[in-house]
Amino acid sequence: MKIIMLGAPGAGKGTQAIMIADKYGIPHVSTGDIFRANIKNNTPLGQEAKTYMDKGMLVPDELTVKILLDRVAQDDCKNGYVLDGFPRTIVQADVLKDALNKLGDHIDHAINVDVPDENIIKRMSGRRACVKCGATYHIEHVPPKKEGICDNCGEALVLRDDDKPETVKKRLDVYHEQTQPLIDYYNKEGILKNVDGTQEMNKVFEDITKILG
Ligand code: ADP
Ligand code: ADP
Ligand code: ZN
Repeated sequence: MKIIMLGAPGAGKGTQAIMIADKYGIPHVSTGDIFRANIKNNTPLGQEAKTYMDKGMLVPDELTVKILLDRVAQDDCKNGYVLDGFPRTIVQADVLKDALNKLGDHIDHAINVDVPDENIIKRMSGRRACVKCGATYHIEHVPPKKEGICDNCGEALVLRDDDKPETVKKRLDVYHEQTQPLIDYYNKEGILKNVDGTQEMNKVFEDITKILG
């Protein structure tokens, strides 16, 4: 099963993608996580991506597409995957579609996690991230067992540089301009499924599992 998660930054794509990956036994592929791991290790890719991410801008398509296609070509992606944060532009969606078509393959579901902008700003300031394993918490809604420490791996949690309110506003603008058109794109492809992302996270997941079966 191949799944795409759509939604504004902070809508809960990552949170749901991790639960989907766990239940259906497929890898969670997050371009944001890949970029952040590269930034942490100070690779050339990380250095380049950081200049865009810190400004709330998208990393250029050319770079992003290459990273993603390399990742999904790996062995563990053979039986499917859940893409979180990719595609974010029509160009990226077209490249993915063509690459899959060449293999006689396709995306099964594009799940749009719908959350209005007002809720987003509030959520982001409370988000805490583990850069080591990719887990995400929220100081009020999804607190870790021990304050500031990742439940999975014990790493110290951080407030992402790009989760500061000014950058979140910029990312929302970028989302509306470049990523939101993908809702229409996948609707025309006949694979778009909408879920109400303002609900409690287990309820959102219940709605998603009804779609995925
Ligand atoms: P969020 O979880 O808030 O949606 P992500 O972790 O997915 O954020 O992405 C963080 C940043 O990484 C984005 O703001 C962007 O700069 C960069 N990025 C991630 N995925 C992509 C992509 N598919 N195309 C371009 N830039 C991306
Ligand atoms: P995205 O990957 O779309 O950027 P995340 O999954 O990182 O979003 O979630 C953004 C923030 O909101 C995180 O702090 C997360 O713990 C919290 N969160 C996720 N889902 C919900 C929900 N249904 N209700 C309240 N908070 C949530
Ligand atoms: Zn962790």
